[in-house]
Amino acid sequence: ETVARLEAANREFEESNERLEQFAYAASHDLQEPLRMVSSYLTLVENRYGDDLDADGREFIAFAVDGANRMREMIDGLLAYSRIETQGEPFEPVDLDAVFEDVETDLRIQIVESDATLEIPSLPTVSGDSNQLRQLFQNLVSNAIEYSGDDPPRVTVAAERNGSHWTISVEDEGIGIDPADADRIFDVFQRLHGREEYDGTGLGLALCERIVERHGGDIWVDAEPGEGSTFSVTLPAADSESDASQPV
Ligand code: ADP
Repeated sequence: ETVARLEAANREFEESNERLEQFAYAASHDLQEPLRMVSSYLTLVENRYGDDLDADGREFIAFAVDGANRMREMIDGLLAYSRIETQGEPFEPVDLDAVFEDVETDLRIQIVESDATLEIPSLPTVSGDSNQLRQLFQNLVSNAIEYSGDDPPRVTVAAERNGSHWTISVEDEGIGIDPADADRIFDVFQRLHGREEYDGTGLGLALCERIVERHGGDIWVDAEPGEGSTFSVTLPAADSESDASQPV
């Protein structure tokens, strides 16, 4: 009887979770259209009437454009977040060498502008969703470059086999993280470092955690302030016979 009750409670929980996901998806999706209007009319005013405004007027428009852009990033992030479960692909063998090549292409501008050095060894093949793994490592490498402090960023990737899983780590020598904050940075909209200095949405690591969870793995960080950070994720090996070879 206890088992039946637990099963019912679990079903109820899953259903309400699903409703919440659908809500998040619909809400962020429906917010896109009015935001597009705000952005395009602001741009129109700026282009057509910018010369008629005084310096204050032009500055106010620029603030509004900034705000609209930030909102766009957040909505895009929330949409990506709510799509992890609903729009994931079935797992297949994914060559992480190819994933990191794509990540380097995605981040080319950031890499060149920051003069970053990436050390990426030959990497294994895991079982997963290649698009989501690309998003995962794009976020981790982009953060490793972003939170680098003053020196040109140096990012080192490593892989280690543990039973049926691979542990992939992304290490930087940047500003680091206080261990007391190490858990909450994976929550939605949690940001530790100043808005003036760093821009971001606080959604990247929440997205990473969600992707890793769908792959039946873990994500964590080892860091000290001023000593850099190492983000590690576990992912199912492609050659393992475990039931981790399909989405959880
Ligand atoms: P953001 O869009 O702000 O980068 P994330 O969810 O990716 O959001 O990261 C959350 C916060 O965790 C960041 O705002 C930053 O304070 C901290 N953080 C993430 N990666 C690193 C890193 N490699 N080194 C230091 N701090 C980091």
